[in-house]
Amino acid sequence: MSLFTKKEDADNKWEKKYFSLLDEHDSLEKSSQETEQLLCKTIMRLALAATGFNQQLDPYLNRIRKQLKKGLNNHLLKQELEEFSNALMQLDESSSQKTKPDPSLLFKFLARHYTHRRAELEHIFKEYQRNAKIGVKDLLLALHELIDEESSVVSEIHNHNVDQEAIRVQVLELLKNTDIPNHFKQRAEKLKNSIDDPSESLNKILQDTFDLLIGIKKDMQSKQDEMADFLSNLTEHLLSLAQNSQQALIMDKSFESERKVREQVITEQIQELKNNSISATELEPLKNMVISHLDDIGNQWQENQQKNLQHGEKTRESITELSKKIRQLESESKSLKNSLQKVQKQATRDPLTGLPNRIAYEERLQAELARMQRNGTPLAMAIWDIDFFKKINDTYGHKAGDKTLVIIANLLADNCRAVDFVSRFGGEEFTMLLAETNAQSALIIADKLRRKIADAGFNAGGNKIQITISCGISEFGPDDTGETVFVRADEALYQAKKNGRNQCVVG
Ligand code: GH3
Ligand code: MG
Ligand code: MG
Repeated sequence: MSLFTKKEDADNKWEKKYFSLLDEHDSLEKSSQETEQLLCKTIMRLALAATGFNQQLDPYLNRIRKQLKKGLNNHLLKQELEEFSNALMQLDESSSQKTKPDPSLLFKFLARHYTHRRAELEHIFKEYQRNAKIGVKDLLLALHELIDEESSVVSEIHNHNVDQEAIRVQVLELLKNTDIPNHFKQRAEKLKNSIDDPSESLNKILQDTFDLLIGIKKDMQSKQDEMADFLSNLTEHLLSLAQNSQQALIMDKSFESERKVREQVITEQIQELKNNSISATELEPLKNMVISHLDDIGNQWQENQQKNLQHGEKTRESITELSKKIRQLESESKSLKNSLQKVQKQATRDPLTGLPNRIAYEERLQAELARMQRNGTPLAMAIWDIDFFKKINDTYGHKAGDKTLVIIANLLADNCRAVDFVSRFGGEEFTMLLAETNAQSALIIADKLRRKIADAGFNAGGNKIQITISCGISEFGPDDTGETVFVRADEALYQAKKNGRNQCVVG
């Protein structure tokens, strides 16, 4: 999401502003720490130097040093210094000491540490020893002044009102130029008032300023962290929205145009959010704005999802419907196939006897001829014709005739070999193709069948009657076709009839 990767853009004013403020705070804080350290060091050195100088002052000096070792605590230090000052005043006022204390130790110590000020130190000590009017207090103040000059910062802070004023003005400027968060404003106002108050200690002002700025800094940092988390979550959220959107929006063409419109709306929302984010100067309004946009996008997305869902529902419905139809079609296709097979069977079967018909005979003939030629095996044809069938019809009726046809058909089919092919050629005539069989073998098989039929005995109107059948047989020669063999077999049949019927003749 480019939206959030650009939050560090140059025109991201609020961020820049805060970062520069942070830098300012940091340098101010650093300078303050340096000042503090210098101040501590100076007072500690002074205290150390002054220790042993006067026994009455020593406990105060020790306490000051002890206090400073723990760090600069304005309040306690001020207290200690006040007590020290009081002790110093009393010491001076009492003037109980007839002889002035020997400052040689202090001189040695200071001369070692402030070698470049040795001449001035020497001058101060000499003056102290020479002039009886110069007391310990004067000596310490003079030394204090001399050593304080070592640090311009300390001297600025403590000794020159003009510089103090400059610092106050600077601090005030800094506060004025700082964007103070609402919940720090009251504190900042109080601080500004104290800066205007000349009786307020500069140290305290600086300390309060640092505390305030550090507070703001911490607050900002936590806000930035919060914002970073927020934006990171937002980014993830939008990313997953986009991903889901992509997945969910893989739809058919009719849905495509509608989808594009909705996607465009989301894209515009994100763009607007991006623009507003870049120009935002405050965290809270930015956050609110982002949330509001996120709501819009979320609503848009929901609407999108809803439509996708509806569309998905429709798609599912149509898929279910489609699969239903497919299953229906499958079953229809199956029944059609069965019907077709039935029709095909009907087309090649004789409906009365169930035997293959003439069409089937033609097909089988071609197959057997091919096999004969391929394998060089013999093939014979037999034509059967029921004897005096007309008489049966005439005597017992057409239905009895049909029944007789069915019985004879079954007798022929059931008693021939599996390889033999029996068909009803028409009327009361049947043909038989005998695979791998020559004429003589065919004659034997056919005669067996003939006898079977002759011996079967038929029931006609309660009377048992004999029905016979005649057969003409012919074997396929190399140049024969179905027709030529049929003609020969038919001639043989005619011969069988002519010879008295109920017989098989090879032609
Ligand atoms: P032949 O011994 O010389 O063959 O005498 P035939 O009576 O069988 O001779 P023909 O061919 O003259 O008669 C055949 C008869 O078979 C005529 C026809 O009515 C009868 N027929 C043919 N098809 C059917 C059929 O499907 N059902 C019935 N009931 N009779 C049929
Ligand atoms: Mg006939
Ligand atoms: Mg006949």
